[in-house]
Amino acid sequence: MTAVGTLALQGDFAAHRKRLAALGASAPEVRWPQQLEELDGLVIPGGESTTLLHLMDREPGWWPAVEAFHRRGGGIFGTCAGLILLARRVRHPEQRSLGLLDVDVDRNAYGRQVDSSEGFGRWADGRPLEMVFIRAPRITRVGDGVDVLAWHGDDPVLVAQGNLLAASFHPELTTDDSVHRLFLARLATPLADGASSVA
Ligand code: GLN
Repeated sequence: MTAVGTLALQGDFAAHRKRLAALGASAPEVRWPQQLEELDGLVIPGGESTTLLHLMDREPGWWPAVEAFHRRGGGIFGTCAGLILLARRVRHPEQRSLGLLDVDVDRNAYGRQVDSSEGFGRWADGRPLEMVFIRAPRITRVGDGVDVLAWHGDDPVLVAQGNLLAASFHPELTTDDSVHRLFLARLATPLADGASSVA
């Protein structure tokens, strides 16, 4: 059974766990960095990235544990605040991040009117994909090694790089489980030689 933990310090981790369990993964809540050693994948959920950073800082082992997990090929899926934590550069305002994923983001970038919205974007091949946005970050730069898997208007909103997957929307809050299925499928497919996601 694939073990995909969800970081359970803050945010909407429960919805991710429910979705992962429904898809047949063991889906523990992750509250301590040592737990990463037992996992194939990790979801960093939406929430408030500043609060997540603050909570992770209280336990000095988090940062190196996530980096080591990534280096050994563990898959990480970040949604919304999780994407912000994974991004190379965070602005609006500037904020520290793990920097594992070669994209830049602006936090809370869609302004007040569209603070939270539900609707449809599209997969890169044009199929519709339901999306819920909650004070979403905007991806403002996509590095050469990053694939854009889905769009909302002209904005990339679902990206992948090696074992990393990240969404600016909340796939755990829709009835469509295809993004979580994609994450599990990517975990089951080892990277080709030379395709290491480690920059
Ligand atoms: N606006 C939040 C942040 O900047 C992210 C919102 C979310 O995760 N739904 O961290």
